[in-house]
Amino acid sequence: MSFNNTQLQRLADEALNTGKACNGGANADYIPFLASVPSDLCAVSISCCDGTIIHSGDYDYCFALESISKVCSMSLAMQQKGAEQVREKIGAEPTGLPFNSVMALTVHQDKPLTPLVNAGAMSTVSFLDASDKESRWQMILDFQRKMMSQNVKLSNDVNTSEQETNFHNRAIAWLLYAAGNCFSDPMDACEVYTRQCSTLVSCDDLATLGGTLANGGINPVTKEKVIDPENVAPILAEMTMEGMYDYSGDWAFLVGLPSKSGVGGGVVAIVPGKMAIAGFSPPLDEAGNSVRAMAMIRYIANNLNLSVYSPS
Ligand code: GLN
Repeated sequence: MSFNNTQLQRLADEALNTGKACNGGANADYIPFLASVPSDLCAVSISCCDGTIIHSGDYDYCFALESISKVCSMSLAMQQKGAEQVREKIGAEPTGLPFNSVMALTVHQDKPLTPLVNAGAMSTVSFLDASDKESRWQMILDFQRKMMSQNVKLSNDVNTSEQETNFHNRAIAWLLYAAGNCFSDPMDACEVYTRQCSTLVSCDDLATLGGTLANGGINPVTKEKVIDPENVAPILAEMTMEGMYDYSGDWAFLVGLPSKSGVGGGVVAIVPGKMAIAGFSPPLDEAGNSVRAMAMIRYIANNLNLSVYSPS
């Protein structure tokens, strides 16, 4: 199926209205900064493989990337070590439990199962080849910028808010370390992970992140080759299994696109070889997924019959 830009713009505008009509959910408040973001912000952006970006709503408002940063660090780890090493050391299974679950670790001998929950993300950060904390951080920030744009930057406000309150994640990092599943100093891993969650991106940037994956690893806007093509399918497989946490199965059923959410209110969904759809709005459901972003992506995906499981 091919799509023209007029049709996509109309769908984006309709999706925005559909999203704005959803009133459920609440801002994340366990990170103080996130509680203060205006709840009525709402945006949708589509990144096409030819570099076109279609958008509607507050598409240039910059919000915290949060858990979607896990996709970038996982991709970087696959670039450095190969996809199979990431599967072996960290995993490729869903946890079926919340993203910060200690129980998910405990029942699996403190092995995280997937790079897309907090435990696995810190393990992934620690797995990267880096000589010290600052170079570990810099390579992650550089990779986020390559997948999105040079506009991506660390927010001191978000970072301070998270670093001062991330006690639960610090405990998880020590559990990983005790079991041999953290490959650097655990507090360095936790600090760098917290920074990677605290970068600010626009909805257009987020769509471009997905567009890089949809486009076989080449950033559709800059045309830079960021990810080797053989790593793209494993990345999308990890996203399918855990990208929407303990809602991933329902999301596969309802939408059928590898996706990733963050508690900053962003969600990005990938249509391999075609496009990526990003949504942003702060209120979250129980699993930590943006209610309006999901509604907007679902509207577009269902209208265009984009599920990867669909026969046509
Ligand atoms: N920084 C957040 C945390 O560690 C990210 C969680 C998320 O977006 N699901 O809890």
